[in-house]
Formats: sequence, C-alpha cells, structure tokens
Amino acid sequence: MVVIPIYNLLLVPDANIYLKSDQYRHLARRYAEVNDRVVLLSCKKEEHRKDMTEDSFYPIGVTGFVKEVNEEGYVEIRTTGRVNLDIVGMNPDHTIELTVSRCEEIEDLDEGVEQAHFEQLKADLKESWQGFEWGEQAMGYLNQFHSISEVAVAMSIWFKMSAEEKYEILAQDSHKKRLEMLEKAVYEFMEVSKVTTKAASAQQEDYQKIYKESAIKKQMELLQRELDEMHPEKVSDIRKFEIKIEEAGMNETAKGEALKVLNRLKQESNGGTEAGMLYDYLDFVTGLSWKKEQAQAIDLSEAESVLEEDHFGLKKVKQRIIQQIAVMNLKKQQAGSILLFVGAPGTGKTSIGQSIAKALHRKYVRVSLGGVRDEADIRGHRRTYIGAMPGRIMDGIKKSGVSNPVMVLDEVDKLGVSYNGDPASALLEVLDPEQNNTFTDHYMNVPYDLSDVMFICTANSVDTIPEPLLNRMEVIRFSGYTASDKFQIARRHLLPKSMKEMGVTEEQIVISDDIIRCIIDNYTMESGVRGLRKRLDTLCRSAAVEVAKRVGAAAVEVLKQAAEQGSAAETVANQTGTNQTGSNQTGSAETGSDADAEAPAVPKAEPIVVKEEDLREMLDAKPVRHDRVLAEKKPGIVTGLAWTAAGGEILFIETLFTKGNGKFTVTGQLGDVMKESVQIAVSLVKSMFPDKASLFEENDLHIHVPEGAVPKDGPSAGITMTTALASLVSGKAVAPTIAMTGEVSLRGVVTPIGGLPEKLMAASRAGIQTVFIPMENEDDLDEVPQEVKDKLTIIPVSDVTEVLERTGILDGKDVAQE
Ligand code: ADP
Repeated sequence: MVVIPIYNLLLVPDANIYLKSDQYRHLARRYAEVNDRVVLLSCKKEEHRKDMTEDSFYPIGVTGFVKEVNEEGYVEIRTTGRVNLDIVGMNPDHTIELTVSRCEEIEDLDEGVEQAHFEQLKADLKESWQGFEWGEQAMGYLNQFHSISEVAVAMSIWFKMSAEEKYEILAQDSHKKRLEMLEKAVYEFMEVSKVTTKAASAQQEDYQKIYKESAIKKQMELLQRELDEMHPEKVSDIRKFEIKIEEAGMNETAKGEALKVLNRLKQESNGGTEAGMLYDYLDFVTGLSWKKEQAQAIDLSEAESVLEEDHFGLKKVKQRIIQQIAVMNLKKQQAGSILLFVGAPGTGKTSIGQSIAKALHRKYVRVSLGGVRDEADIRGHRRTYIGAMPGRIMDGIKKSGVSNPVMVLDEVDKLGVSYNGDPASALLEVLDPEQNNTFTDHYMNVPYDLSDVMFICTANSVDTIPEPLLNRMEVIRFSGYTASDKFQIARRHLLPKSMKEMGVTEEQIVISDDIIRCIIDNYTMESGVRGLRKRLDTLCRSAAVEVAKRVGAAAVEVLKQAAEQGSAAETVANQTGTNQTGSNQTGSAETGSDADAEAPAVPKAEPIVVKEEDLREMLDAKPVRHDRVLAEKKPGIVTGLAWTAAGGEILFIETLFTKGNGKFTVTGQLGDVMKESVQIAVSLVKSMFPDKASLFEENDLHIHVPEGAVPKDGPSAGITMTTALASLVSGKAVAPTIAMTGEVSLRGVVTPIGGLPEKLMAASRAGIQTVFIPMENEDDLDEVPQEVKDKLTIIPVSDVTEVLERTGILDGKDVAQE
C-alpha cells in the first residue's frame, strides 16, 4: 500500500482528490500507477519529510486507489473509507511504515435526504454564480459531481479553514453530522465570496467614478484649450493662472498654496477687496522660475577674458573669482563660497558682479540693501498685512526670471536694525547653504530653493557688518585706484561709455590724455572712479551742446549755399524754360541732384578740442581742493593719514597750548573717539619729556582733529597725536612732507592699522614724501601699487621714539640722556 502524507487538504471518503504526477511521486516515493492502493495521511503541520515523526499525523486517514493518471500530468485518487492509523515507524529512507484498521462509521444518514441536500446545495451554488462570466463554466463542473463530499473536496482549496478544522470533518463518525459540516463549509465559502464580490464591485464602482471624472476633466481641459486658442483675447485671468500654475513646475507645497489662493480668487467677486491681493500673489508666484537650471561647465579662459575685457586692473580680485569658478566647475555646483567685495565707492564692486554673471552665462540681478531696517524687507511681509509685499531677495529672483542668477547684495554694511526685527539675521538664513534650499519668504509662505543662486555681497567697510554674517563670507578687498589706474580706466572704459551715451564721436570731440589726467588730478578726490565717470559725462554733455551748435551752423551754411546755387540754377532754368520745355525739366532735375549730392556732407563741422583752460566751464565745477602738504611747518602740527569710506585722506592734527590750568579739549568730528588716544599721547609725552611735564599743568591743551576719518580709524591717529604733542612741547616743528599712521600703546609701541593701501595712495596724491607705518603692517605693502611706493619713502617703525628721532624732535643724544 502506498502511503501519502498530505497537509491541509480536506480528506473525506467517496471523493476525488487530484495530485500532480510529480507531487504524487514526491509524496509517495514512487510513480503513480492506476489501481495503486493508497492511504492518505493528514499532516498536522507542513514539514519536511525527513523531519516527520509518528506524531506528525492525525490518527485517522483515508484509503483509496489511483483511478487515473492522465496525460495532463494529474493523478486522480478516489477515496474509499476512513481508517485508523497505527504508525509502526519511520524508515531511514523516510518512508512510513504503518498498519491500518477500519474506522467505526455511524450510518445515520438517509440516502434520500442526502440527495435532497445535494440538489439544494447545487441550486444555491448555481444561483450565487449567476451573472459571473465564469459562472457558466463552473456550473458545468458542478453537474459532474455526485455528492456533497465531492463538491466540498473540490472547493476546499478556497475554504478559509485550518488543517485542524478540516481534520475535524474527517474525524466525525456520524455521516449526518459530517454532511452538515461539509454543507456548512460550502455555504460559508459562498457567503464570504458574496461579501467580497459585493465589496469588489462597490470598489469597482468607485474606481469607475474616478476614471470617469478624470476623463471628463481631461476632455474639458482639451476643449477649453481649443477655445483659448481660438480666442486668446478672452482667456480669463483665472484661466491664465490655472495654466501658469500647471506649467510652472512648482514644488508640491507651492502648487497646493497657489491652487488654494486661486480657489479663493474664484470665490471672490471681481470687485472684492481681497481679489486684488490674491491676484498679486498669484501673479508673483507664477512669475517666479521654479525650474532647476542645469549647471554649465564654464570655459575658464573665456571667463578670464570676459573679466579682463570689462575691467582694468583688479588683478587679485579677478584671480580669486577665476579660482571660485574653477572650484564650481569641478564640484559641478552653481554657487560656491559667498564673496564679500569690500572697498570704497566706485571701485568696481558691483559692476564686476555683473561681469561675473556674464562670464558664467547667467542672469544678473542687483539687490540694494542700503538702509534696510526691517526683517520684512528681506523676508517679506505676511499676507495678512495690507499692502504686503515679498522681500527683496525673492523680488530679485522674480526680476531675474531664473532660479540661479548671480545676485549682488549691495551695501550689506548699511543694514540697520529696528524694532521690526533684525534684517541681518534674516540675511544669514538666505546665505546659509544648509538652510537656503527651503527659504520661506513670509509673503509667499512656501519654500523656495535658493541654493543655486550665486550670492556676492558688497560693502564699503566691514566694521558695521555683524560678526556672524561676516563669518559666512569671504572678504575680497578692492583697495582703490592710483592716478595712473584711473587714467587707464577712463581711457579704455569710462570715456568711450560717456561719449556713446551723450551721442558724440571721436571725430567731433578730441580729449587728450593730458586732459584726462588733469580731470583726475584736479576734479576728483576719491579712490574709486564714480566721480570721474560723472565728470567725463558732464564733459561729453557740454561738448555735445557745442557739437550740436557747430553742426547746426554748418548745416545752415550748407543750406544757404544750396539755396544760393538753387536760385542761380532756377534763374538759368527759367531763362531756358521760356524757349524749351524739355531743357527746363533737365535743368530742374540737375538742380535737384546737386542738392542731393550735397546732403550727406552737411553736418561736417570742425571737431572740438577740449583745452585745459575750458575744463572749469565745461565741467561746471571748481577744481577740488585736495588736502595737500602744508606750505610751512609749525610746532604742534603733524600730518596723519586717515581711512575714510571714500578711500584714504591726509589730515592735520593741530595742537595748541593756551594759558590755563591743565584742562584739555578735543574738537573735530571724532572728538569722543579720540579722547583716549589723546590721554595716551599726553601720558607718553609727559614721560618722555619729564622736564616739560609741567607745561600740561600750567596750560590748557586744545587738540583739533579735522573731520573725515571713519570712527573705527580714530585710534590709528595715535602716533600722529603723540608726535604732534611732542613737537608742541619741544617746540620743534615736523616737516610737512612727513606723514604717519599707527596706533600707540602706553609703552610707546606702534601697533598695526587697517587700510594701508588707501592711506599711502592718499599720501602720494597729496605730495607727501615720507611716511611712517607700523612695522607689523610691512606685509601689507604687497598690496600697495608700485607706482605709489616709488613716490614715497616708507619707513616701518615699531616704537614711537623712532618717529620722534627721525622727525628731529628727539635726537639720539636726548634719548641716551633719558
Ligand atoms: P562700486 O560698486 O564699487 O561702488 P561700481 O561697480 O558701481 O562701483 O563702479 C562704478 C563705475 O566705475 C562703473 O561704471 C564701472 O564700470 C566703473 N569701473 C570701476 N572699476 C573699473 C575698472 N577697474 N575698469 C573699468 N571700469 C570700472
């Protein structure tokens, strides 16, 4: 007898069980042959044959025989009766040895009743299968069954029953009860499938509804689009926004917000107060570029030549910019470290930003931050405010029309603070690469990715920039231009621009190199070139008037000549005309063609040659008065160098004793800042000239520091102040061609200062010959143009006594005696 263990099949007598041939072979350990006698064991759990023990099987199984081995690879087993199993043991080849004995059966079922139940079940099944495509086929199979057992076994693979529950049916001795159990299983299955079918069809209905809806919507859109195309003038604002929102490529949050606002706009009547605000909002967000631009590889030598073309000089700045572009290329990024260009006005900070954009083939936008005091200026107003607006950053992005412009944030040092928040901290967020990919403008109320924007900031000085902001940026200094730089810039860039703007040409106006130099020396006093540009504009404008006058005069002259010639010709024509009509026509035609030939030559006028003596009138300005070296020397007056927002300047520190009792007064713009420097200077001088110390008690001291320098630069006049006081008490004057800059400590040590290049440029401009600078600033001399260094004798000093010795206030002997 072939023993076949089976898991989770409903086993009952008088039914057909189908196994695949190889499944049979695997379970029975032999090929199937018709009429093989089999015992089917019901397994408690699914396990490997080698792991099975006597305990793996329920105690009752069914016997049967192989009825058919069909060509489709199925083995049909017909079950016959139930048997009690007595497992003898498991063989080493994993076959199972057992003996079987017939099971007790309680035959309490009337055959007629069973048949009636079977018919009823069939009828019920047929009814529940009606309406399904597969119903017909299933009903065909149903007709081939002869008993409830057969039906139940065939359907059992779909029953939601455990192996245990299935075995319970087999274990039932009473035929009647077994039939009931089988019936119950089939009816249960029928109910479950009814419910799931219902649920499935309900779900299908839902789906159908959704499909239908989206199909209708698509169709409507299509029709609407066609209508829009036919009547573009009738496309409503709402419709326009709908299209824009769809096409803008916004992120999900932004799209959601825009659609929400659009819905509100739809509900607002046209004249509603909110409508305008909602309209503005949609106009703004749909006007932004939401698409990510691809990073482009930049040709470095091309970028270099763009920078070179637009700006003269600025070698270090250009070098640093090229480095930045190279890094961005390598990292395939669109933004690198944030550069801060620091320098006096008109040194080209903003315009080089524009050139960078050009070199990178990107859009350029400038955002001015000067005077910004409210956080809302940077981050926008919340929309609940009346007249709410987006902040300047997002406004700039909108203007640029792209998501990756080069954005120059101008004058970051002029940011203020007010009770309406701190704009600098908002700016921090804008510039922070960690945060700026989800920058949320209050007005927009949805995040925008600023991480591809290349930010460049400009400032006149770093003193007023809050530390955290400054730390985020890389400072690049623009130290200002020398007179010869300015000349080159004027010749190559500024003058051609001015002439073009004013509509004059080189044939009409001649401006010699000397004239340009004269304007630079006598009519400008800045370290940038903005003033120079204005002067050149004025010059060209004045010249333009003159040119127009001359051209006008020349034209009148030509017209006059033409008229004279014309009337002469006319006379001739008239004379001939009396005789011959044909020649009259020829005569007129000739006169006409003469005048035509003359016409292009009309505006030819003498060019204007600008002369030095005309400059004052043409520029409509007095020559500026540079503080030049003083003509005479006097004890107590010493020349210092100051750093101002406009570059460098020289200044004179004047000291004076008046009869009194030891008071001291400091006047001038930097009065308060200078007080400490004055005290240090006084103490130092008293200690150096102990025999003169009483002068300070017997007199009042007045020190005057003229305006100009920025407060932060105040202390750098320390050395000048000390020298001036030493000169005053010693009565020895210092040569006016000597200037100095440096802080002084109470020990007399000269400590370093800022803005050395600008200060030295100012010194050379003013005609100074010798300059004392702090020893520690010696390295900064690299930054000073050679042309300036050539003009000056620069003496680095580390102690104030060196200055006093070299200026002749202290001689070596004096020092030795002390
Ligand atoms: P800043 O931003 O430093 O105040 P700008 O960039 O506005 O200065 O420059 C003022 C003007 O001077 C611009 O017209 C600019 O083109 C010109 N300019 C400045 N530096 C140079 C230079 N090195 N070469 C050519 N033009 C320059």
